[in-house]
Amino acid sequence: MHNQLTCEQVSALLSFYVEDKLSKKLSEYVKQHLECCPICMEKYIKMQNMINRFMDIQNQEIDNPYATKQYEDFKSNLSAYVDNELDDFENIKIKKIAISNPLARQDLENIYTFKKLLHSSFEKTKNDLKTDYSKNIISQLQHEDSKEKIQDPFFKVVITFFTMITFIVAGVIYILYF
Ligand SMILES: [Zn+2]
Repeated sequence: MHNQLTCEQVSALLSFYVEDKLSKKLSEYVKQHLECCPICMEKYIKMQNMINRFMDIQNQEIDNPYATKQYEDFKSNLSAYVDNELDDFENIKIKKIAISNPLARQDLENIYTFKKLLHSSFEKTKNDLKTDYSKNIISQLQHEDSKEKIQDPFFKVVITFFTMITFIVAGVIYILYF
């Protein structure tokens, strides 16, 4: 299939590509673009290097007394924890380690900071986008976001509350005026 992504679109998608968050098809398009575009490839390498440096810093902590077997377990579950993929029991285990182990706590803070960074760079790129195709990609991604928001229990309660109020007001108006 012909690769149609522009450099702008690839920059917008790059952080998701590095994090392996794109669909298989989209990820393949980005990969094809990188193979034939040295400018985007350079950006990709820079981003990858940044992540590798981040990993190196973590590896240097190996001599630290807190670098225990428990900490290793924590690290291997960290990304699943941040992505909300663990069950309750494992979640509590991760939280306990994060409280008692400063290395673990630092990792958790780093990963949240990193996620925020990716998100803000994505927001910035989004504002720079012009073409309809990239807007389409972005709106698909946002659509996934908004689905999550609706599942938020607080959001549900608010919606239910306002629906009830609407019905009560409508009922009162009906009784008074009809
Ligand atoms: Zn390019």
